[in-house]
Amino acid sequence: MLARQITGCIAVGCAITFVTVGAMAFWMADKYDRQAASASRTMMAGHAVNAWQKLAETTSDYAWRNDALPAYRRKDKLWLDANIGRAVTERSMAEIMVILSPTGEVEYVWGQSGEENPRHTISTDVATAIKHVMQPWSRDNSARTLLARGPGGVLTIGAARLAPRNHEGEPPGTLPILAVASYLSSARLLREGRGFFIDDLSVIPTAEPGKEARPLRDINDQVMGYLAWTPKRPGRELLETIFPPLAAALLLFSVVMGMVAVRGQRLVNALGAAARQDPLTGLENRKGLNDFLDTAACRDAMARGQVAAIYVDVNGFKNVNDTVGHQGGDSVVCEVAQRLKDALPEAHVARMGGDEFVAVFTGQDARHVARLAARLPRAMQKPFEVAGMEFWMSCAVGYSQCAGEGGSAVELIRRADIAMYNAKSLGQKEPLAYQPSMDAGKLEKKHFENKLRAALANGELRVVYQPIARARDGAVHSLEALVRWRSPDWGDVSPEKLVSVAEESGFIREIGDFVLARVCEDLVHWPDLRIAVNVSPSQLREANYVRTFRQKLKKHGVQPGQIEIELTENVLLNDPLPVARKLTHLRRLGVTVSLDDFGTGFSSIGSLRSFPLDRLKIDRSFIRDVATDARAAALARSFIAVADALRLDVVCEGVETQEQAQTITASGAAFLQGYFLSRPLEVDEARAYVGRSKKAVAA
Ligand code: C2E
Ligand code: MG
Ligand code: MG
Repeated sequence: MLARQITGCIAVGCAITFVTVGAMAFWMADKYDRQAASASRTMMAGHAVNAWQKLAETTSDYAWRNDALPAYRRKDKLWLDANIGRAVTERSMAEIMVILSPTGEVEYVWGQSGEENPRHTISTDVATAIKHVMQPWSRDNSARTLLARGPGGVLTIGAARLAPRNHEGEPPGTLPILAVASYLSSARLLREGRGFFIDDLSVIPTAEPGKEARPLRDINDQVMGYLAWTPKRPGRELLETIFPPLAAALLLFSVVMGMVAVRGQRLVNALGAAARQDPLTGLENRKGLNDFLDTAACRDAMARGQVAAIYVDVNGFKNVNDTVGHQGGDSVVCEVAQRLKDALPEAHVARMGGDEFVAVFTGQDARHVARLAARLPRAMQKPFEVAGMEFWMSCAVGYSQCAGEGGSAVELIRRADIAMYNAKSLGQKEPLAYQPSMDAGKLEKKHFENKLRAALANGELRVVYQPIARARDGAVHSLEALVRWRSPDWGDVSPEKLVSVAEESGFIREIGDFVLARVCEDLVHWPDLRIAVNVSPSQLREANYVRTFRQKLKKHGVQPGQIEIELTENVLLNDPLPVARKLTHLRRLGVTVSLDDFGTGFSSIGSLRSFPLDRLKIDRSFIRDVATDARAAALARSFIAVADALRLDVVCEGVETQEQAQTITASGAAFLQGYFLSRPLEVDEARAYVGRSKKAVAA
């Protein structure tokens, strides 16, 4: 799973890198190309302005000569040839020069030497266009420029009145016009285009995609064609240059990431295998065994009743460790593991920790588990040799066949374990089969207690919190702390069983200390809330209970007012006086005292008066039927009335439905606790719950 996640992450990382690098490269190339296209447009626009200006200047240079108009009037062709026409015939200043009469007829035309019929070029349309642009006459007789379609293509034309610059006294319409024209020929455009790094400047009839185009308009604003060019694409060129090395780099990157993925996968697999393996013996550990028991094949076998387990506890390690040290002990553990595998080649063998091993059989072998288990004491008979010395080990063996209908793997192992514990406690050399009677026996309890002690030491215990809310509006009033144990061998263990075994053995004090310490730590989340802890009779019987209780709170900086203790009625039956004294003490400190599971004990209502209590918690067995049974409802009402008479708050436990909540709230219960409000919650969930409840009440 993790390996797949790593590979997935790397694949996504590669894809993101590819897409990002590719997109960046294309984006940059496109940006460069746009910049270059824009620059070429600016240059072309600038060039056009310059060209028109130059044409206008050249035209006016010739048209404004002082002696030109008199020569025209004299019809002095020789003078005009030599001084005007020479600009095209000899100097190639333009392709065609023409003088139009004031009425617009072509009078003189000069063409370059190659020009075959210059008069033909200045068609009537062209002449009309020239005359047309000269209509608006200004005082300075400035030159005009225009584009016109000639027989050989688009012409650029400069035109001015043939008269001195500030010629006055004659209306402009009576003066001749000098015009200078040149074709926008391919040769000319190529030459001009190269001036600013454009190779294909040309005139095209319609705009083409991929080409820049400026419309060429005649004097009527009609488009005659387009001045077109292909802009340089430096971005594309750069992209083409960098593409091969970039592709190679990305390929290399993906190869390296592929290698990382493969290695990561191997590493994760190795770590996964290591997490399931006992490093000393190479056998599977508890987790490995659980994984095996959880396989589909194993679950199928379980459903068919074809699974069995042998639990082995090897004795004698203390002697080995004391004599040859722990290294010697380790080598014996390895030898034991080897002998187990050799003795039970058909089994799935795991080391559960220390000197405990489990062998699991599936299929037909499971039926013969008794015969198979019998091999083990024999396998241990031979002495173990360490550092030249011989050690004799023994083992206690218990076994169990499938845990019965609906049985779980956890239960199967637990049964084999309890059978082994019986064999061990009875000093039995031969394997013992699990019997249901073992569960109720003293040995089972002792075994349970041992496991519980180890659980507290190993941090397997935790505390959950169940909200207690105000009946009126559902506001969280306090939380009850409840102990929980998830055993790696047995799964979630019933708190009732845990508490009763711990109470019998006196271990409940350690558990009580653990719960109180955890509550004090968690109270930082709830500075304005009270937490109730359950206190067992044997805890309260401790001589220094109140003093140590106070010290513990002080150590954690918790105010006694933040703690409530819950006691059951049987506490009040034995030694009532010392208990009452302690409770008085606690209440003086500010601790709230509740009587838990009220109604299930044997205390008389009268005796309750003599105990310093704050609250009564009516046991859930009296709440169960309140919504459906009138007598149950009446009983609950009378309990509430008793509490009222004793001036005690009432908490109703085990409220599971809305109907129950409504009935007992109507009966006057002040506080509710139960699955209807919330199940017991892990500390983080409880924090969130309290936060939500505060918001809801505030709203
Ligand atoms: P309790 O003090 O009466 O705690 C309430 C029990 O009722 C809890 O069971 C809780 O999970 C259960 N409960 C709450 N609401 C509902 C409901 O709506 N329906 C039903 N059916 N049950 C509900 P849990 O946690 O199994 O505890 C059982 C008993 O074990 C507790 O009864 C308490 O007497 C004892 N216990 C739990 N934690 C501790 C502890 O830390 N120390 C001591 N000394 N005893 C504890
Ligand atoms: Mg309680
Ligand atoms: Mg209770």
